[in-house]
Amino acid sequence: MTQPSTAHDHCDLLIIGAGPAGLAAALAAAPSGASITIVDDNPQPGGQIWRDGPAVVLPDLAQHYHKALAQHTNIRLLNGTRVVGLGDPLPQDKAPALLLEDADRGWTQRSHRIVLCTGARELLLPFPGWTLPGVTGAGGLQALIKAGLEVRSQRIVIAGTGPLLLAVAAIATKAGATVVRVAEQAPWSALAGFAAQLVRWPAKAAQALTLLNPSLRASTHVLAAQGTGQVQSVRLRKGLQAEETLDCDRVACGFGLVPNTELGQLLGCALGGPLSGGQGLAVDAQMRTCVPGVYAAGECTGFGGSERALVQGAMAGHAAAGQVQQAEALRPQLARWEAFGQTLQASFPFNDALKTLAAPDTLVCRCEDVPYGALAARQGWIDAKLHTRCGMGACQGRICGAATRHLFGWQTSAPRHLLTPARIGTLTTCAPVSAKASGPPSG
Ligand SMILES: Cc1cc2nc3c(=O)[nH]c(=O)nc-3n(C[C@H](O)[C@H](O)[C@H](O)COP(=O)(O)OP(=O)(O)OC[C@H]3O[C@@H](n4cnc5c(N)ncnc54)[C@H](O)[C@@H]3O)c2cc1C
Repeated sequence: MTQPSTAHDHCDLLIIGAGPAGLAAALAAAPSGASITIVDDNPQPGGQIWRDGPAVVLPDLAQHYHKALAQHTNIRLLNGTRVVGLGDPLPQDKAPALLLEDADRGWTQRSHRIVLCTGARELLLPFPGWTLPGVTGAGGLQALIKAGLEVRSQRIVIAGTGPLLLAVAAIATKAGATVVRVAEQAPWSALAGFAAQLVRWPAKAAQALTLLNPSLRASTHVLAAQGTGQVQSVRLRKGLQAEETLDCDRVACGFGLVPNTELGQLLGCALGGPLSGGQGLAVDAQMRTCVPGVYAAGECTGFGGSERALVQGAMAGHAAAGQVQQAEALRPQLARWEAFGQTLQASFPFNDALKTLAAPDTLVCRCEDVPYGALAARQGWIDAKLHTRCGMGACQGRICGAATRHLFGWQTSAPRHLLTPARIGTLTTCAPVSAKASGPPSG
C-alpha cells in the first residue's frame, strides 16, 4: 500500500474508521470508481468486533470483507493512521480537510466527501481500586487477549452491563482463564425480557445461547477492587444489601458504550438520535450529517451491533457516491437492526447505585490525577477543567468526560482544532493557518 508522499493528499471519498461500518461504506462506494481512502488508527482493519491480532481467527464475514476490499484498486487503506485535527481545505473541496498522522509523518487529507465511521468506546466508571494493575475495561481485556495477552489459569471477574460482558467471558474462557463471576448490574427480569425478544433476530438468539455462562449473576455490581500493587480480590454488591468478595487476578469492567463523536463535533456535526441517548452523531435517512459533504455511520451514530453498522455503512457509502437509490433500498434492513438496537437499549437499565461507587479519593481523571472529591463541588465540565485540569491530559477527556456525564450530568464541550496530542512536526507543516495564528490549543 503506497503512502502519500507530500504534506497534502486528495481523494474523492475519505472514510474514517475501518470497522464494519467503514469497510461496508468503502465496498458500497467502490463500484462508482471514486478514489477512496480509509484511515484507521489500529494496525489492522476490523474495528472493535473484528479486531485482528495474533490470538484471533477472524469470522468468515470479516474475512469476506477483507478479501473484497483487496479486490478494489481504487480503495486505499491506511492503517496505523489517525485523524488528529483539521486541515486547510481548498476552495474546490466539498468536505472539510483533515490533519492525519502516522508513525512517520503528518499530512493534510482533502476530499470531496467524508464518511465518519469512528465507532464507540467503553464507558468506564470510577470505583475504589479501578486504577490497580489488573483492572481493565471489559472490552479492554478482550482487546488485550486478542493481542496475545496470556491469561491461562488466571481468575477473572467481569462486571458492568450489556451483552459485551458475556462475549468477553467467552474469549477469556477460550484463552484458558477461569471466569469466576460475570456480574451484570441489570436485574434478571430485564435479562429475561431481552432473551425473549431475541426470537425476532434468530442469529442473535443462537449466538446468545453459545455465550451463556454459569457464573452470570444479575442485579450484581462492583463495589471495589482490592490488592497491594496488583488486584487480588474484588468486592461485589448482590441485590440491595448482600456482598461477596472474590479472589481474582483480573477485574474487567465495562458499563456500556460511548459513541466516538469528537471528530464529528470538531467538524460541526450535531448530536442526536434515539439509539445513543442523544449522544451520537445525528444523521438523516441518507446518513448525512448537518455538515455538507460529511456522512456518518455505525456506532458513532448509536448502538445496535455490527449488523446495524454494516447496513448504515453501506447506505453511507452508496449515498456519498451519489447512488441514492441503492442507499434507499437498504432502509428495511436498517429498520430491522434499529429495532434490535432499541431492544438492547431498553433491556439494560442503569442502576443509580453505579453513580455512588467512587470515594472522595477515587481518581476520576487518571491522566491528571483528579479525584472524585475535587470534582463533586464543581459546577460543570469547563469549571472542572479550569479548576482541576480534569480532562486536560493525554486522553483529552475521552474517559473522564464520559464518566462525569454519567456521574454529574455534565456535557463535555466539542474539541477545537485538535482531537488528540499530535507531533509538533505535523502541526508546523500541516495545521490550518487559523490554528497556527491562534497559537497552541488549550487542553
Ligand atoms: C471495546 C469494545 C469491544 C466490543 N466487542 C464486541 C464484541 O465482541 N461483539 C460484538 O458484537 N460487539 C462488540 N462491540 C460493539 C462493536 O463496536 C460494534 O458492534 C461494531 O464493531 C461497530 O462497528 P463500527 O464500524 O461502527 O465501529 P468500530 O468497530 O468501533 O470501528 C471504528 C474504528 O474507527 C477507528 N477510529 C476512531 N476514531 C479514529 C480517528 N480519529 N482516527 C483514526 N481511526 C479512528 C477506531 O480505532 C476503530 O477501529 C465492542 C465495542 C467496544 C467499544
